Amino acid sequence: MTLYPIESGNFKLDGGAMFGVVPKSIWQRTNPADANNMIDMAARCLLIEDGNRLTLIDTGMGNKQSDKFFGYYYLWGNHDLDTSLKKAGFHRDDITDVFMTHLHFDHCGGSVQWNKDRTGYEPAFKNAKFWTNKDHWDWAVKPNAREKASFLPENIKPMEESGQLNFIDNNGDSYERSVEMGFDILYVDGHTDKQMIPHITYQGKTLVFAADLLPTTGHIPLPYVMGYDTRPLLTLDEKETFLETAVDQEYYIMLEHDAHHEICTLQHTEKGVRLKDTFTFDEVFK
Ligand SMILES: [Zn+2]
Repeated sequence: MTLYPIESGNFKLDGGAMFGVVPKSIWQRTNPADANNMIDMAARCLLIEDGNRLTLIDTGMGNKQSDKFFGYYYLWGNHDLDTSLKKAGFHRDDITDVFMTHLHFDHCGGSVQWNKDRTGYEPAFKNAKFWTNKDHWDWAVKPNAREKASFLPENIKPMEESGQLNFIDNNGDSYERSVEMGFDILYVDGHTDKQMIPHITYQGKTLVFAADLLPTTGHIPLPYVMGYDTRPLLTLDEKETFLETAVDQEYYIMLEHDAHHEICTLQHTEKGVRLKDTFTFDEVFK
């Protein structure tokens, strides 16, 4: 098995929204804001090559939205999905499976593209199975008013219409091995219903793709919870358990949204669980 970090393109989000009740005077020390109060965000995906199977975890924002839409997200940097796949030695048509941690647009927008004559949408990975779970799917296709701006029908419906949509089976346990994917999944409900956090054993280490459970190193202290989370008190519980486990099990945490750190480890301190080290992907895995 070989893993590759895949950068799909950086953007910016409102720093206040990213840190909920934490004051700017505090969060700007780790995540400095620009003149518009926006902070740097990555949309870092993970590619798993395992035998004949090529699985992409999350797909970034994609490129089918309007200039007006992207104007809100201040795209920056040189990364895009196709270039990153090519650098790893692959083409998007090689992808056999697309696993989406959840269906917010910055995690699944790249799964769907315009069709050739721009009259409608089609899967952006024509040979892939798309994986979500039934509970999250049901939640996403009838979005509440708060998440409506994140669950965009054009990102979601075409996967179903193509017949390429699949659901991960689960017994209802919060941590389960997925037979379909071949890795363990932690299910968390604080950010959105049934977000899936992959735990992958690789080169003797556990790599956790933290998605929106821990977006950047700035979000490590327990109450630093995004304003976007639908159930912040539940996030506190889920995050506390996760942070403790991450220290005990010496997890290497891959940060999807941290534009400046690919991987981090954690440690216990007098103040609680805090950052231990940051690494590039290549520093940890050879
Ligand atoms: Zn999200």
